[in-house]
Amino acid sequence: MDKIVSLARRRGFVFPSSEIYGGLGSSYDYGHYGVLLKENVKARWFEAMVRERDDIVALDSSIILHPAVWEASGHTAGFADPLVDCRFCKRRYRADQLDDAQCGQKPSKHPGETEQCDLTEPRQFNLMFRTRIGPVEESGQDAFLRPETAQGIFVNFKNVAQIARRKPPFGIAQIGKAFRNEITPGNFIFRTLEFEQMEMEYFVPPAEAQEWFRYWVEQRVSWHRRFGIRESHLQVRPHDAEELSHYSSATSDIEYLFPMGFAELEGIAHRGDYDLQAHTRASGTKLEWVDGEERYTPEVVEPALGVNRSMLAFMVDAYDEETVAERERTVLRLHPALAPVKAAVLPLVPRNGEMVEKARALYEDLRRAVVAEYDDSGQIGRRYRRQDEIGTPYALTVDEQTLEDDTVTIRDRDSLAQERIPISGAKAFVLDRLAADWQTPKAS
Ligand code: ATP
Repeated sequence: MDKIVSLARRRGFVFPSSEIYGGLGSSYDYGHYGVLLKENVKARWFEAMVRERDDIVALDSSIILHPAVWEASGHTAGFADPLVDCRFCKRRYRADQLDDAQCGQKPSKHPGETEQCDLTEPRQFNLMFRTRIGPVEESGQDAFLRPETAQGIFVNFKNVAQIARRKPPFGIAQIGKAFRNEITPGNFIFRTLEFEQMEMEYFVPPAEAQEWFRYWVEQRVSWHRRFGIRESHLQVRPHDAEELSHYSSATSDIEYLFPMGFAELEGIAHRGDYDLQAHTRASGTKLEWVDGEERYTPEVVEPALGVNRSMLAFMVDAYDEETVAERERTVLRLHPALAPVKAAVLPLVPRNGEMVEKARALYEDLRRAVVAEYDDSGQIGRRYRRQDEIGTPYALTVDEQTLEDDTVTIRDRDSLAQERIPISGAKAFVLDRLAADWQTPKAS
């Protein structure tokens, strides 16, 4: 993880938040390449879940919903973690994760293991961030920042079902920020106070729910595989009865082998009709499917994935170090569809006016089609290494020979093979390669 954190920082993917004030725990800011990578993760999810299907539509609901939503959903009462405080070191820990935590005084021990540790009994601590609506504190109304995007989907069920005119099985997909007052810091962007979720609620006739649950577990595993995560680094873990959330009748986690071990990457929950029934009871609006004589409350299968956690998994799986011709290089072997920059254009001799002119023209042409970068600073070897570290699949170099015959070399990030191609066909060449099937060259 230290290597990923250091690369992310060095190359401007992710910075600690509010760093000049000492940072804020479990909060991170995303720099240029982090933004591009995150946008690509979201775009690939949206394509697979909405654009390539006929049965799922998009939604973008508010972050702040009517507080009654969280009452009805059970979050006000039940979305809590058990916490213990240490009266001696004043630290706070999750009672169910003491074995993973470090004692505030003696980091080699777990909380409760030294003589000075003085832990309180576990208390339930609600994870929702509270805020107030209204300019005057006294007359304002309590509200919450959403801890999941799903409830915004459930409360819009009737709007979407009527207007999108879909018959179950159909889904509603949403990407957006969620907030949780998590107290277990660490592990970089794996768990943060605010994060983005990609959630899809799939509404089905009750008799079909089990079948759809299995379907979505398979679909979602294959999505992670499609974009480069190695099979041996993924596992599906069904929750046992005690672990299930208050709303769920079955959940399976897709776990990824993060540097700290296998941990949840995505959750697929069979939520039954819990949410639609709860909002029907609390709001008085019937959230059901009606078509002539047919009338029922659909059951829901929900795949829910964190954008940031997904980005971390892709970075971890892509990270590689190798020695080529006695030189070390670090390379992010990202799927080209996820790579922040698709092609870099490098004039071999940056002081050569003619080379610069050709390289700039090629760059201007490429950037109209894909995210491209022009780099003329420093030794060519250093420029290649920089592109390797941000995961750019192709580097096009304009050199002496370009001036003679209008060809450029194109260097493949993974194999390091260099080919010479006509400059006029360079854009089509890059687009072709980007559209081709890709498999990680890393061994499983
Ligand atoms: P965990 O057990 O890790 O706390 P969860 O089971 O509470 O997660 P869900 O409510 O199922 O998580 O949320 C769906 C997805 O959202 C998770 O699989 C994860 O990818 C992401 N996610 C949840 N909480 C966070 C967080 N604090 N920071 C980053 N991503 C998160």
